[in-house]
Amino acid sequence: MRVAWTAGDGLRHLVFRLDAEDGITGPCTDGQPLRMATNSCRVELPYEPGEIHPDLLALAAWTVVAPWTRRRVVFDRPVSPEFAAAIGEGWGIEAGPVGGSPRSGHGLAISYSGGADSAAVAAMLPDVPFVHFQRVPHPRVPNRWAHYRSDALARLVGRTGRESVTVRSDLEFVLAEPRPGYPEHHAVAAGALLLADELDLGGIAFGYELGSRWLGGGRYLHRYTPDNPMWAPHGAWGRAFAAAGVRIVLPVGGVSEAVTMRLALGSPLREHVRWCLRGTGGPCGTCGKCLYKELIRAAIERRPLRTPITADRGVARKWQRPPPYGGQEMIEYGCARVPGIEGTAFAKAAAFLGATEESTAWLDRCYPPAVEEVPEPWRERVRAFMAAEVGFMSEDEARRVETWGLRGPS
Ligand SMILES: [Zn+2]
Repeated sequence: MRVAWTAGDGLRHLVFRLDAEDGITGPCTDGQPLRMATNSCRVELPYEPGEIHPDLLALAAWTVVAPWTRRRVVFDRPVSPEFAAAIGEGWGIEAGPVGGSPRSGHGLAISYSGGADSAAVAAMLPDVPFVHFQRVPHPRVPNRWAHYRSDALARLVGRTGRESVTVRSDLEFVLAEPRPGYPEHHAVAAGALLLADELDLGGIAFGYELGSRWLGGGRYLHRYTPDNPMWAPHGAWGRAFAAAGVRIVLPVGGVSEAVTMRLALGSPLREHVRWCLRGTGGPCGTCGKCLYKELIRAAIERRPLRTPITADRGVARKWQRPPPYGGQEMIEYGCARVPGIEGTAFAKAAAFLGATEESTAWLDRCYPPAVEEVPEPWRERVRAFMAAEVGFMSEDEARRVETWGLRGPS
């Protein structure tokens, strides 16, 4: 893989060329096979940042090209030996050319999506600025996802009153299948990485919660993942970010989506939280994500489900089958708490899972090891917030995390 950035007027173009051994289909770090649509993308920065450390340019490019790189990656300027070693050890990929010294930085920014998880991070760190990633169309790839209203979301971010920068990029369109999206989950930070010198960043905070970090969330299913290669500090990506002087920080990595939802809805950002990008006036209420988030919200508000979605609808199909489910811990939590769940699209899932308030009580508290892996400059702040606002899991409750997926449906 050969990677080159060109620059001008706050615009950065990335072009990558495959070597003979590379393929246009390859796995993302979570194992999902991805098919490439095109070999270029751009990142529009809000201002011209000047000189950018080569390790930042290389890492930003790596978040885009990693799935399709088989043996080596050649960047357009020398990367530090430390960064090259992180790519070598994390992926078994030879990275070069090598030269120069590593960078470091001090401050923190929040990679802010506008969803409940990143709003919870924002509530915890009220003085930390946002970097928001906004999807824009790619000039060479047709946009069949016009219903995805990234413009509405960027406007909401602008109204939060928080110091924020929005970075616009078409990098999601380098991915043809399964659909446009980040080639690696970390590509959401591409703009923050390119601005990291200008903003003096030593860390980027993400809204990945307990399920994503520790319970095999997303495409991983139902198992404890202490060595999660995407988000553990000692995982491949954690080490690559650290080598570039930008630590991955997961302030809500120890708490479930029930807690992030509660924190988000209790924060000044409440009116600006948005997890669904269909429609402009608010969440659509009819997609699978809206159904899932409504279950969590109804559970924490202790009220019946408000949704037009019935069991026979396509988006509810997976809840008619037996577990395991993605995000199963939150399905258990919701089914145990929502009054009248037996009359909803989750009736069958609730019967399969047999969860109770007691069996899901651990999801209301913080998993202590998640705080220990927050980098030192920010750890005590996170610990104090969790102690005051959430509380920590007992040893028995922590064991629920560490045996997740071993005992079968609880
Ligand atoms: Zn929706």
